Amino acid sequence: MSTPTEVPAHLRAAVDAAKENVAALHAELPRWELVVWTAGNVSERVRDDRTPDGSGDLLVIKPSGVSYDDITPESMVVCDLDGKLVEGDRSPSSDTAAHAYVYSHMPEVGGVVHTHSTYATAWAARAEEIPCVLTMMADEFGGPIPVGPFAIIGDDSIGRGIVETLRGHRSPAVLMRNHGPFTIGKDARAAVKAAVMVEEVARTVHVSRQLGEPLPIAQEHVDSLYARYQNVYGQH
Ligand SMILES: [Zn+2]
Repeated sequence: MSTPTEVPAHLRAAVDAAKENVAALHAELPRWELVVWTAGNVSERVRDDRTPDGSGDLLVIKPSGVSYDDITPESMVVCDLDGKLVEGDRSPSSDTAAHAYVYSHMPEVGGVVHTHSTYATAWAARAEEIPCVLTMMADEFGGPIPVGPFAIIGDDSIGRGIVETLRGHRSPAVLMRNHGPFTIGKDARAAVKAAVMVEEVARTVHVSRQLGEPLPIAQEHVDSLYARYQNVYGQH
C-alpha cells in the first residue's frame, strides 16, 4: 500500500469536506452521553476513485487526547489505511489502527465509531451478546448484537476482532469483550447512529431484565422487520 506524504491534490476537497463532517459528528458523542473526557472517536473514509482497490483511500479521524470542546475541522488528522499519519499537527487517536484495519478489510464501510458508552460497555464486560428482544433492534441490527474477542490495544488485534465478528453479520455494532462498542456504517453519520442505537438498546434490554426475562422475537419477524426497515426506509 502506498503511503502518500501529503494529501493528493485530487482528494483535497473530499478530505476537507470529511474533516468538517467528522468534526461536527464528534459533537454527537457527548450530546448522547456516549463518552467522558477525551474517550471515543469517529472516523470517515475518503475514497480515491483513481485506485478502485482502495489502496489510495484515506481516513479522517480525531487526534489523540483532544477535548471535545476543542475539536475543529482543522484539528482533524488524516491517515492512510495502514494508520500512518498523512496530514495533521497532532498524533492520531490511539484507536486509529483499528479503524484503518476495518476500512482496509471491509471495502463497503465508510465510517467507524468507537465509544465506551456505559450500558453497551457493561454488556461487553460480561461478554454477553444483546439478544434481539426489541423491534427497533430487529430494524437497526437485524438480530442480536454480537461480542468480539478480547484484544489489547497496540497492534491490529482489535481491528481483526471487529472484522472477524462483523463480516457477514447484519449488525453494524460489535461489543468488544471487556472494552466497548465499535460501530460501522456506509458513512460516518450512519456509524454514529449505530453507536447511539447500540447504547439505547443495551440500556433498554438491561432495564427489561431487571423486571424478568425479555421475550425473544421470532426469527421470521426479525427478518421481515429488518428487510422492511433497511429497504423501505431508504437507507440505500
Ligand atoms: Zn476504547
